[in-house]
Amino acid sequence: MSEAKVALVTGASRGIGKACALKLGEAGYKVAVNYNSNEAAAMEVVDAIKAMGSDAIAVKANVSDQKEVKGMMREVVNAFGQIDVLVNNAGIVKDEYVLMMKSETIDQCLDLNIKGYMYCAQAAALKFFSKKNGCIINVSSVSSVLAVAGQTVYSATKGAVNSMTATMAKELAPYGIRVNAVAPGFIATDMVDQLPEDKKEEYLKEIPLQRFGKPEEIGSVVCMLASDACSYMTGQVIVLDGGLSL
Ligand code: NAP
Repeated sequence: MSEAKVALVTGASRGIGKACALKLGEAGYKVAVNYNSNEAAAMEVVDAIKAMGSDAIAVKANVSDQKEVKGMMREVVNAFGQIDVLVNNAGIVKDEYVLMMKSETIDQCLDLNIKGYMYCAQAAALKFFSKKNGCIINVSSVSSVLAVAGQTVYSATKGAVNSMTATMAKELAPYGIRVNAVAPGFIATDMVDQLPEDKKEEYLKEIPLQRFGKPEEIGSVVCMLASDACSYMTGQVIVLDGGLSL
């Protein structure tokens, strides 16, 4: 039997990242569960993956800090000997109308949602490069293609994720590295929980499937993108939004 592949999922202590880590664990990957602050939650994900019979570790790193990203990559390779899949997921949303936008908000979103993705992608690609094989999946958002009032900064960062996905895919394809993205709509995680009830109701009315998505519905597609089922797919953004953007 061939050796299990290794996946690193950023922001995997909660929400979509957690669901991706669990789906990859279920599919037999060894999983590095990155978190920023919530070690206990990350350890629960690690324990759940081990209970499925796969291996997992928790890795603390603020992925908007390049030094910490390099340290995280070293830790993953030291623990598992290699890395095969990166899921760039850790992100934040800070809704602010354009007239009230603050520079700290702009910096925080750009630092994590753009620079963080680039730091992790570069660190992973440097590992994939020599073995001419690897896969990066970026978690974007439907806000990259659909205007949502209050999301000027967030949507700009997710638009950047879509463009970096295409550019990285083109650059890295000759080295056997595939880069794709998923663009979720409203998914039932802490990020959506924090919205005011009236906003949630307003958004629900716009979703043709009439419900928010489940994190595991994103995890399954991420897992499929990492698999050989998608071996000829690169540079694509898959929208998973219950029809919201139609
Ligand atoms: P979430 O529930 O708020 O979870 C965020 C995760 O990111 C946590 O694991 C958190 O770790 C981690 N994180 C935060 N800052 C970090 C940092 N600086 N370094 C490393 N990890 C960090 O978020 P989510 O809803 O699952 O969203 C995940 C991704 O999906 C984001 O990129 C988001 O933009 C995208 N997305 C979400 C939705 C949605 O409706 N939920 C829709 C479209 C796109 P700690 O717990 O340790 O702080």
